Amino acid sequence: MGVFDHAEFDNHESLHYFQDESSGLHAIIAVHSTALGPAAGGCRRWTYASDADALTDALRLSRGMTYKNAVAGLRFGGGKAVILASKNAPKSPRLFAAYGRAVNSLGGRYITAEDVGCSVEDMRHVREQTEFVSGLPQSGSSAGGDPSPWTALGCYQGIQAAVESRLGADSLSGIRVAVQGVGHVGLHLCRLLHEAGAELIVADVNEDNLALVRSELPVTEVAPSKLLYTDVDVLAPCALGNVLTSSTIPKIRAKVIAGAANNQLATAKDGERLAKRDILYAPDYVINAGGIISVAGEYYGSSSEDEVRADVCRIRERLQTIFDEAKSSGRPTNELADELARNLVAAGR
Ligand code: NAD
Repeated sequence: MGVFDHAEFDNHESLHYFQDESSGLHAIIAVHSTALGPAAGGCRRWTYASDADALTDALRLSRGMTYKNAVAGLRFGGGKAVILASKNAPKSPRLFAAYGRAVNSLGGRYITAEDVGCSVEDMRHVREQTEFVSGLPQSGSSAGGDPSPWTALGCYQGIQAAVESRLGADSLSGIRVAVQGVGHVGLHLCRLLHEAGAELIVADVNEDNLALVRSELPVTEVAPSKLLYTDVDVLAPCALGNVLTSSTIPKIRAKVIAGAANNQLATAKDGERLAKRDILYAPDYVINAGGIISVAGEYYGSSSEDEVRADVCRIRERLQTIFDEAKSSGRPTNELADELARNLVAAGR
């Protein structure tokens, strides 16, 4: 398939395809930009309908990482890896060791971490093969470990900013939040929202994850197909991307969309559609930067946990600035965030 004329190709610096016969590994690593530092971004292990879908995901996600890292003020460029899951390539230490060798072969141009379908444990196997991995448990008060709680904290901060801006509420008490996906990030987010007095409506396709949230928190469960259209104040997509489309947006009843999932908008035009409906959208890569902020603190060995926490909490101010600008200019929030990110990358070149 064509790469240079691919709809999601955005002057990516390099694309790398890996296969390892003994473990069954098939992986793609996309390096979008190293203008601000080594290309950093997680590794997604997913069952794709085709190799073409995996490539599309790698291209989109790696560009998103460039933007995310730039707006978060990190000394990282953007990259992303996808491992194509299949029956012939079950999750195994051997698979992640092979993936670690693949990452190592790039000599530090790409730094990996966990994302959907991968765990901290998997990254330990990667670490045996390469130093270019982050998101591993650290000792004492050093930053690092599972990025998900940090991503959830950033989302929580972002939800507060959005609720204040759109609904004029200075507290989340009584605010109804629909959380799509209660996996690593969604569960932590639910805990924070519950502590703040929010009412939780959740959906997931994984019964074990639902059982966990149900055992811990008072939640109302709805079918995954209904969650997006529930009558709530806030919709927090915390599953996969492409949920905000020309067909879903007209039916959404939330006033605020603020969640962790990457690539929530199917196209940039969908940001305009949300703005026209007066739905305040927190650009995904701005609100979900908490995890990569922790990963950066760990990778550069320069931050304590308290410093990472302070940095993650700055997501709230960043979003407030974007929301204020959107109000005064009438421009969609995704457009403003993209412009900011592109300017930062250009200035770093
Ligand atoms: P995860 O795999 O742990 O959780 C995702 C959850 O969504 C799972 O429980 C899954 O069953 C559920 N899900 C899948 N399809 C669904 C559907 N149609 N309806 C409802 N639920 C569905 O992943 P995660 O680490 O929690 O990440 C969630 C999202 O946030 C992803 O898009 C990821 O790329 C993004 N993200 C994660 C981090 C992080 O630190 N983990 C950082 C930035 C962005």
